[in-house]
Amino acid sequence: MDKTYDILQRVFGHHSFRANQEEAVNAILAHKDLMMILPTGAGKSLCYQLPSLVMEGMSVVISPLLALMHDQITALSAFGIKAAMISSMQSPSQIQESMQACRNGELKLLYVAPERLKGESFLNFLQSLCINFFVIDEAHCVSEWGHEFREDYRQLFRLKHYFPRTPIAAFTATATKIVEHDILHQLGLSHPLIIRAKVERDNLNIKADYRNANGREQLLSFLSAFQNESGIVYTLTRKETESLALFLEGYKVRARSYHAGLSTEEKNETYRAFLNDEIDVVVATIAFGMGIDKSNIRFVVHMSLPKTIENYYQEIGRAGRDGLSASTLLLFSASDIVEHKRRISEQPASEYQKVAYEKLEAMAKFATSQLCRHQQIATYFDDTILTCNTRCDNCVEGEKQSVDISNEALKLLSCVYRTGQRFGLQYVIDVLMGANNEKIAQNAHQNLSVYGIGKERSKAQWLSIGDRLLELEALKVGEYRVVSLSEYGAQIIKERLHVSMHAKRLEERKKVSKKAT
Ligand code: ADP
Repeated sequence: MDKTYDILQRVFGHHSFRANQEEAVNAILAHKDLMMILPTGAGKSLCYQLPSLVMEGMSVVISPLLALMHDQITALSAFGIKAAMISSMQSPSQIQESMQACRNGELKLLYVAPERLKGESFLNFLQSLCINFFVIDEAHCVSEWGHEFREDYRQLFRLKHYFPRTPIAAFTATATKIVEHDILHQLGLSHPLIIRAKVERDNLNIKADYRNANGREQLLSFLSAFQNESGIVYTLTRKETESLALFLEGYKVRARSYHAGLSTEEKNETYRAFLNDEIDVVVATIAFGMGIDKSNIRFVVHMSLPKTIENYYQEIGRAGRDGLSASTLLLFSASDIVEHKRRISEQPASEYQKVAYEKLEAMAKFATSQLCRHQQIATYFDDTILTCNTRCDNCVEGEKQSVDISNEALKLLSCVYRTGQRFGLQYVIDVLMGANNEKIAQNAHQNLSVYGIGKERSKAQWLSIGDRLLELEALKVGEYRVVSLSEYGAQIIKERLHVSMHAKRLEERKKVSKKAT
């Protein structure tokens, strides 16, 4: 153990381990398979770099991101650790050189792009080396249930075939239980130690709000609390990053745009300026992503809805890595959902596409929900935490703004019941609002006592009320989106229970859905 601590302090310059790190290091040193789910910035790299130094031989790291590999190797060489990478970025002669260095036992870590494992000859080459363990970075890419499935990661099942006795350590920042099981299965890990960190970032303040016309005023008002402080503003398109950066500059905010369309030099220069606090705000697409390691990011703003909670959680997770308080703001509108759906619909029909729709729906639900934001994220990742009470808009503002919807709830639930719990929410609302359509006529639902008793609310408002009842689990959604009453829903009717919701949610939804349709 002394050697481990010695290297931790002498080579990496850290006084102590952070949470979960020592357990992971020990598992690798004990030649166990490992699966580690730890938020971005929590210090995953150390968990495999350190044991690699303690052990004889070398370790092989599979990573999907060339730029990230490159950064890691530069960082390692600053610590005096010999590492190299083999990917499409190197020339054949550089690759030969790295392979020779491996044969000579000169390297401690070899970073490899996943597509290399397709080739028999490369696998044979690896077999000729003394490899102490494999690392799979961004392991969620192996799963079609994850949010970033990569075809090349499919190859990784071969590792256990070619190296049945070499342990594998898989790392990811975000994985639901389904993704976790899939990773274990795909990689063929045997009796792995699974380390799953608590899904909670105590130092983040999370807020989400409907976006007005274009949201720029909302952004400015948010930014006024962060003068000369570092932050990231995420937008959906490249064009928007540029026009928004210009707009912010007009307000004396030192901002620059970042997206995949820029040259590598431009991107590196922006990142460098950001790291050195020469600019304060990077307005970026999601291309400004993995590998960002700046500790004093005080805020992250999303100008539109991310497509998954996994993405959202990773992106807001870039704020406050120094442990000090940081804030996040999500601005969204129903038109964002329409745009994401359009993008998903352009993909070929597949299981992955289906999963993408489901993930989008979960993200949209998160945005409109009035449950504790921290708790919702934790629940999504199958973790259980208490409500934050003070660190999200829903907890802080919740009570202040709520309106009584007991009457509406009673009407909607009764209408679900009277129509026989056989229809979707849209239909039930049509009956409630006294719509004149063929389906209602066919079912003779215009004769029901609940027909037309909900004219005082707009359809959009009824949909919001429906969302709220679903959130409270008074309503359940079954196959074909049929809604029915839960026990609690029946109890609301029977005992005339009190139901409330955010006033804003009731008002704003109206505006947003008009725009989207
Ligand atoms: P991840 O891969 O989980 O996103 P990294 O491995 O990039 O995170 O680590 C994030 C930052 O935390 C790095 O700057 C790293 O030097 C720092 N770090 C890691 N472990 C420790 C530790 N035990 N003590 C202090 N800093 C640490």
